[in-house]
Amino acid sequence: TEERVESLHYNQELDNLGKVMNETMGQVQNLVHSQQDFVSDVSHELRTPVAIVKGHLNLLERWGKDDPEVLEDSLSSSLAEIKRMEVLVNEMLELTRAEKLTVNADQVQTQVWPVVERVYHDFQILHPDFVWTFDNGLDKAAQVAIRPDHLEQLLIILLDNALKYSTERKEVHLALAKAGSWVEIGVQDFGQGIAAEDLDRIFDRFYRVDKARVHQPGGNGLGLSIVKKMVAAYGGQVQVESALGSGSSFRLRFPLTLQRVADDSKEDEK
Ligand code: ADP
Repeated sequence: TEERVESLHYNQELDNLGKVMNETMGQVQNLVHSQQDFVSDVSHELRTPVAIVKGHLNLLERWGKDDPEVLEDSLSSSLAEIKRMEVLVNEMLELTRAEKLTVNADQVQTQVWPVVERVYHDFQILHPDFVWTFDNGLDKAAQVAIRPDHLEQLLIILLDNALKYSTERKEVHLALAKAGSWVEIGVQDFGQGIAAEDLDRIFDRFYRVDKARVHQPGGNGLGLSIVKKMVAAYGGQVQVESALGSGSSFRLRFPLTLQRVADDSKEDEK
């Protein structure tokens, strides 16, 4: 019977190995496909600015350089397109970094409140035309396992969007809360909102609801895909609720690693 047990065990191991191999092959295939998609998306995004710069340079070469007005216009348009490409390339690098991010939860512990408070304060100062509110329902010592600069980057993307897509009601609401064993960070605006059919897609790279905004700074459709990848790398979640015309509410959630300094061993409080 011992032998039978042994061979059963062996068969099971083989079976498991087969499953793991299959899974891995599937993952490799997905990876190759997503790489191909990425290259094709990027080429597509770069084609327009390259075509515009080329058009201007052609014009200048033929006769434009002799007309001061055309010269100035072509140069400034070309520079603007090149700046746009620069932003695009930087954001793509950030997205790739977020995708490659592997996190060892033990390596980093960050107190959430001071980081959020600092970013909030900076935005308040930089955008005094907005009404800012910050509702902190979190113990100031509460920690999550995320690098502080990454937490900052996530907040900046969400707050920048809250400003960019604002309408006449210039108001941003930030909130920190504890929900069970999670820390929740909420960024709410009262701007243009997002239609239900777009909600699933806004986290896709290069997806923009309003394609016409492409020529505005930062409108590459990469911000939220960076958020999604980075949050996932830290074992967190990102959720959005929105209604067209009345605003959007984004919520990040991360596992709480330390509740408060004095009694972090207690689990009885809600
Ligand atoms: P972008 O650089 O275009 O802002 P994002 O990935 O950050 O790229 O966002 C994708 C799209 O989701 C935006 O183009 C916009 O249409 C929509 N969106 C994001 N945040 C908001 C918001 N706070 N309010 C309304 N629409 C938003």
